[in-house]
Amino acid sequence: MHVYQRLGLRRVINADARLTRLGGSIMPPEVLAAMAEAAQWYVDLFELQRAVGRRIAELTHNEAAYVCTGASAGLFLATLACLTGPDLRAISQLVDQMPDPVLARDEVIIHTAHRIPYDPAIRLAGARLVEIGNVLQTFPWELEAAISERTAAVVYMAGEHLSRGALPLSQVIEIAHAHGVPVIVDAAAQLPPPENLWRFTRDLGADLAIFSGGKDLRGPQASGLIVGRADLIEAVFHHGAPHQRLGRPMKVGREEMIGLLTALELYLQQDHAARIARCEAIVQGWVEQFSRLPGAKARRDFPNEAGQPVPRLLLELDPEQAGLTGGELRQRLWEGDPRIAVAPAGDRGVYITPDTLETGEEELIAERVTAIIQATAGRRVGD
Ligand SMILES: *Cc1c(COP(=O)(O)O)cnc(C)c1O
Repeated sequence: MHVYQRLGLRRVINADARLTRLGGSIMPPEVLAAMAEAAQWYVDLFELQRAVGRRIAELTHNEAAYVCTGASAGLFLATLACLTGPDLRAISQLVDQMPDPVLARDEVIIHTAHRIPYDPAIRLAGARLVEIGNVLQTFPWELEAAISERTAAVVYMAGEHLSRGALPLSQVIEIAHAHGVPVIVDAAAQLPPPENLWRFTRDLGADLAIFSGGKDLRGPQASGLIVGRADLIEAVFHHGAPHQRLGRPMKVGREEMIGLLTALELYLQQDHAARIARCEAIVQGWVEQFSRLPGAKARRDFPNEAGQPVPRLLLELDPEQAGLTGGELRQRLWEGDPRIAVAPAGDRGVYITPDTLETGEEELIAERVTAIIQATAGRRVGD
């Protein structure tokens, strides 16, 4: 019996997205093996953090890198780094000042269009958010006008799904840098393509970029990555654990550091074209199978929920013919054993993602969807 089953839990087949609440992603065996190896020795954690950072910086063509416990923790630490800079006195004084930090620069500018449920990590660091624009549009002068002597950074949430209403990143960087203000990019879910690991920083000039370790990188769920400017990463290092400072509650273990490094090495070797081709083939197969079901319209959807270049399936149901709504289908898939998680597509239907599946799970999903709709077709919705 699996350890989850001994706790009375069901396995989840994840056809939704790399969601934290479902476990993020599945680590490849090489990552698990490296973590087990890391766990067997004691090591100087400060040295390990620096050595792993140097290696990741090399691999990702960045000046410097730092492993943290997740993108959210990364946002917290990156904000701290911009609030204090690498000055050790300012960094340790901040610890004593909290929760009322005395900072020369304490404002972080963010697009209204970029207010997301992860942004409390910025305020947790002691920064005040200054919003620019509205959800529909932002003008360059609004960013210009928001910048003052109190501005510590601009935080930019990357992603096609968030870019509507925001200025282009390149323009934000240009304006911010003209005033000496650093730009932090939250790119937590902006992989693939792997090139994004250096695109935001090396290519576009952002000062720091943050990625989740437990999403597409398939590292430990409680890991994340900050890459970018060496002096700011140095500041991150001093705010972070194992130092007994503000980052201490977000301690990253040696297993996570080694796990993320190993996951990253694998990720950069992976054939991403083949991976996307596999997803295309699965979606194509589902389109053919589901199109035959009563009241069902199936088509390829692209890009995915975070704007990444990976296809997924959109299955729309006509409740009159299929006998159930998209929401009901999603509910029934979730209530089975194993549970199957799919994403809602409004009232109309569901999105089904191939990218998060282990080999063969696409067939299990096809069988379950087919069985559910065949059983409900023709009856009245709600019966
Ligand atoms: C997932 C996500 C986060 C949080 O990432 P964790 O690694 O789970 O902490 C932050 N920002 C964005 C845009 C995300 O998609």
